[in-house]
Amino acid sequence: MSNDGPSPDVAPETLAITAGREASGSSLAPALWASSTWESEGLEDAHRRATSVRHGDFYSRYSNPTVRSFEQAMAKLEGAEESLAFASGMGAVASTVFALCSTGSHIVAQRQLYAGTLAFLQGPCRRMGIDTTFVDVATPGAFAAAVEPGRTMLVLAESPSNPRLELADLDELGSIRGPFTVVDSTFSTPLGQQPLAHGVDIALHSATKGIAGHNDATLGVISGEADLLAEIWAYSVLHGATPSPFDALNALRGIRTLGVRTRQQNESARSIAITLADHPEVRAVHYPGLSEHPQHGLATKQLRQYGTVLSFEVADRDTAAAFLSRLCTARVATSLGGPETLVCHPATSTHASLTPAEQVATGVTDGLLRVSVGLEDCADLIADFEHALETPA
Ligand SMILES: *Cc1c(COP(=O)(O)O)cnc(C)c1O
Repeated sequence: MSNDGPSPDVAPETLAITAGREASGSSLAPALWASSTWESEGLEDAHRRATSVRHGDFYSRYSNPTVRSFEQAMAKLEGAEESLAFASGMGAVASTVFALCSTGSHIVAQRQLYAGTLAFLQGPCRRMGIDTTFVDVATPGAFAAAVEPGRTMLVLAESPSNPRLELADLDELGSIRGPFTVVDSTFSTPLGQQPLAHGVDIALHSATKGIAGHNDATLGVISGEADLLAEIWAYSVLHGATPSPFDALNALRGIRTLGVRTRQQNESARSIAITLADHPEVRAVHYPGLSEHPQHGLATKQLRQYGTVLSFEVADRDTAAAFLSRLCTARVATSLGGPETLVCHPATSTHASLTPAEQVATGVTDGLLRVSVGLEDCADLIADFEHALETPA
């Protein structure tokens, strides 16, 4: 058979092309299975389908063949036994936390988190008696020191983090015993890092971002050992953050070009970071690929690619507003990982739900701007940024 898959020692860029084809027969593109239900042969057969773990031909909230193809591709890219998809990145976060925690459970999480994850931990989780200790991601040993043996169920990290691109030490997380360790790896994509190879239990992504990569799908995914994912799956069919097969199709299509897309976006991000770092209007640039980044050594150790997102600081909110209003090629929008270069002002958009004290603690200053570098010509992007930084006469 031609779709047996390559030997595991091929490059991840090759796996992105070859993976997730098990269910497609000789078709090179996956089929879109829109069906919500499958016919059984009778009582015994229906019983078997209803009581199997992740049975493919039963009911779409339990499993769907198009979603399964996406999950199989993700498992290959993460070097995992299994992957499990959700309706969104937040669906992945909420389902994983509620599957593994109960009232009285404790979570250790980093302070510098995606604002939705932070709001989820501080709102619904706290209301249900699940408390979180927040630690500083860049302080060595901080996660392990906050673990309370017997009570901490989950250690949750996000690396690189939003919006200042700080890194969690994946080896350190992977060596924590007791609680399950989860890394939100959205900002790196599976081509940038593989948390499971460092001993982490679950790699989590908002596939809405770089994986689907075209701003046309909303999807989340986790990867890890099959037994652990079966447990989370059993909860997830009740939680109901069920992925759409159409979005899984778009995400699988996105995976096919992940290698070339991230390569160009990484090169442009690095050039833009270098240009901005030299610009008199720019106070600071946050990008792990710059040698002045405080964690550049760790970045070089654990990232295959430094990433497609950077952030930088201008003097204040008015300067940031003027910059956004003068951009022509780049778009003012949240999200990341798509073909269009997107710029946002975290303090008033992605992190608007944080209190001023929380914004200070997470480094979301008034002059901070986040850039998701797209696929436009890099010289055009640099010209656009330089023009937008000029003080109007
Ligand atoms: C976008 C994002 C999420 C949430 O994903 P959705 O698909 O929007 O639900 C979680 N974590 C990170 C790091 C993100 O960028």
